[in-house]
Amino acid sequence: MLNQEKSKAIFSEARKLMPGGVNSPARSFGAVGGQPIVIARGQGAYLHDVDGNQYLDYVQSWGPMILGHAHPAVVAAVENALRNGTSFGAPTEIENELARLLISQIPAVEKIRFVNSGTEAVMSAIRLARGYTKRNKIVKFIGNYHGHVDSLLVAAGSSAATLGVPNSPGVTPGAVQDTILLQYNDVDALIKVFEESGKEIAGVIVEPVAGNMGCVVGSSNFLYELRHLTQDNGAVLIFDEVMSCFRAGKGGAGQRFSITPDLITLGKVIGGGLPVGAYGGKAEIMDHILPSGKIFQAGTLSGNPLAMAAGLATINTLLESQCFNMLERKMALLAEGLEDEARTARIPVYVEHIGSMMTLFFLDMEKSKILAQVLETTVSGSKVVRSTATSSSGNSYSGKITDWRSASVCDTDRYAKFFWGMLERGFYFPCSQFEAFFMSTEITEAEIQKTIYAARDVFAMLC
Ligand SMILES: *Cc1c(COP(=O)(O)O)cnc(C)c1O
Repeated sequence: MLNQEKSKAIFSEARKLMPGGVNSPARSFGAVGGQPIVIARGQGAYLHDVDGNQYLDYVQSWGPMILGHAHPAVVAAVENALRNGTSFGAPTEIENELARLLISQIPAVEKIRFVNSGTEAVMSAIRLARGYTKRNKIVKFIGNYHGHVDSLLVAAGSSAATLGVPNSPGVTPGAVQDTILLQYNDVDALIKVFEESGKEIAGVIVEPVAGNMGCVVGSSNFLYELRHLTQDNGAVLIFDEVMSCFRAGKGGAGQRFSITPDLITLGKVIGGGLPVGAYGGKAEIMDHILPSGKIFQAGTLSGNPLAMAAGLATINTLLESQCFNMLERKMALLAEGLEDEARTARIPVYVEHIGSMMTLFFLDMEKSKILAQVLETTVSGSKVVRSTATSSSGNSYSGKITDWRSASVCDTDRYAKFFWGMLERGFYFPCSQFEAFFMSTEITEAEIQKTIYAARDVFAMLC
């Protein structure tokens, strides 16, 4: 058993001070039961908790820490920035440097604006899409998460899904009345909605590689169709690459699949562990933002010098080390190893991985049939367009995870047992079935082998 004495004491005090003891629900262990570990520090590939336990970190702050913790280049850059003052509310040269770097790496980005979180980036991009097209409707996919933006907080995957509140109280029917929900990867439904209301659609927001219902890759057919339909109908295509940029591929999933959206939202890795978000895209659209245009968006701490320094150091280090193939290879090694061990233990799993992202889905064939039917019915406040491709009989389930329907019916109890088994052995995986595992440059192949061996023990206990 894990010694959690100090963690438990700190967390029970936290519960009295902060709702649920946390500042973001995903870290509460709500989906796996028990109490979270309280982190004292992170170093390289490892997290150290307040009780002196050490864990190989596959969560990486839910994505940003692609260089591991306290990377010397990032520490040096932030220390240097810190000495020169932490915020001015005035232009700084380092904003140009990070902007230039991102523009050079991400084909979709001609101009960029920095904000302070992924949520803020998405919120601003949605406003821009609506202001630019002078239309109201936004298409969103079930199981995709775009931060806690009111109009998109419907069927939003991970935290929301994990904790059983797909539609948050406090989100008014008015806030979601212009949100159209579709199933991810459902080309037929997409074509249908554009036939019916194409000229009312301001934009479509999508995670081209979804990371918030677990890792689910958008099919190329689906993404190409999205590009063509939005283009033909004058709607703005927004790729939410807050998680996938520098993860699914060097310049994001869009670059990897050679599809250029009109706008892209960024966060996580581009801030190197400091609070950063950004949205960018075609200059012609971006120039509609105040002060070059009329669409309002502002931020006291936006483009903050510490955050810019951390992001710049992170991305420069990544590019200099040319580690993207290595990251992908290591992730494949882990994915294949876990899949093999699960199979040996006769535990049904489905593993999806791309770049430095992965999810190990624990399948539950029985539950899938019942829940597939439930999930096809309406989600309150928003219009659900039913797919013509999938029957409501629920027997189209193939064991492959392609959307929220197939993801949501996984065996979350079994995942919880796997999670705790691994945690007790010193491996920190996401505390939810519906989150991605991440690879960092600091995790070695030997450590991946150790992870696979530990998983073998855990799988043996699960069957
Ligand atoms: C994490 C995430 C967000 C929200 O970013 P925050 O910085 O947590 O506000 C938005 N979209 C996607 C795809 C994400 O993974």
